[in-house]
Amino acid sequence: MINSKTKVLCLVGKPVRHSLSPIIHNIALNDLNLNYVYVAFEIEGNQLENAIRGIKALGIKGANITMPYKIEVLKYLDELSKDVKEIGAVNTILNENSILKGYNTDGVGALRALEKFTELDDKKVILLGAGGSAKAIATAISEKVSEIVVLNRTENKAVELASRLKERGFNARALKLNNKNLRNEIRNVHILINATSVGMNSDVSPVPKYLLKPGLVVFDIVYNPLETKLLRDAREKQCITINGLWMLVYQGAESLKIWTGFYPNVQLMRETALKMVRKR
Ligand code: NAP
Repeated sequence: MINSKTKVLCLVGKPVRHSLSPIIHNIALNDLNLNYVYVAFEIEGNQLENAIRGIKALGIKGANITMPYKIEVLKYLDELSKDVKEIGAVNTILNENSILKGYNTDGVGALRALEKFTELDDKKVILLGAGGSAKAIATAISEKVSEIVVLNRTENKAVELASRLKERGFNARALKLNNKNLRNEIRNVHILINATSVGMNSDVSPVPKYLLKPGLVVFDIVYNPLETKLLRDAREKQCITINGLWMLVYQGAESLKIWTGFYPNVQLMRETALKMVRKR
């Protein structure tokens, strides 16, 4: 029951009214019998600094930061984790005695999701996208896989991401996202990850169906809809498909561990999220 000792966690972004995070976090907190509540704040860009100050002022224990504030928020934080310094984006804030620490759990969330379905050691990966999520995923998987080929609509962003990976000693290449490059690269890879927003709330795919091959692991981090066009095409072409719900749950579980010290029941979080997605 919410009382005067209840600790507050929150989501900050815009839009957030569609978000599943409050539901999966509150069910997990309740299951752990922790006196916390998780709420969503939809804020305008010009209010971000005030919102982050508010976290300190009100003693909010922790926050998730989502689009479009994952990068901008860095400048309002007191400390950044090693991952955040590498990725350049924050999705989790911990308020520790008024010191705001920034973390990024998107990468580890994606890694956990992938590892549920496939081995990563020595696998070649196509990563579509070079935005915040793509950077987090690349950082998390780079130590396991043998090569990451980054394909992005804006080629120079792919080049920048691949260069960062190469500087750290990993095998990475960058290409423009187009059908010719996809066709050439897909032949040689085991795993394809869509970390673009293509397919979110629309029935379009970043990869033509005819290029998908049986046995390819296709992971779409978009979870709205649960089965994107890319995943539907991939299923029909006998690929191994992974939807974005596992990543959502695992990144949330990692955030919750940072805030409370407890690792939640991910199965419960996933089942709850699934019910909500199906009701939409
Ligand atoms: P972001 O930083 O804004 O990056 C967006 C990426 O999508 C960029 O690489 C962008 O390419 C590409 N893109 C956008 N429109 C495109 C189009 N029409 N054609 C080709 N490429 C296009 O966003 P983000 O934070 O990485 O999020 C990406 C997606 O992941 C969102 O749908 C988000 O909901 C989802 N997500 C899921 C989870 C989860 O837990 N499952 C977690 C985080 C994010 P350019 O560089 O050319 O603009």
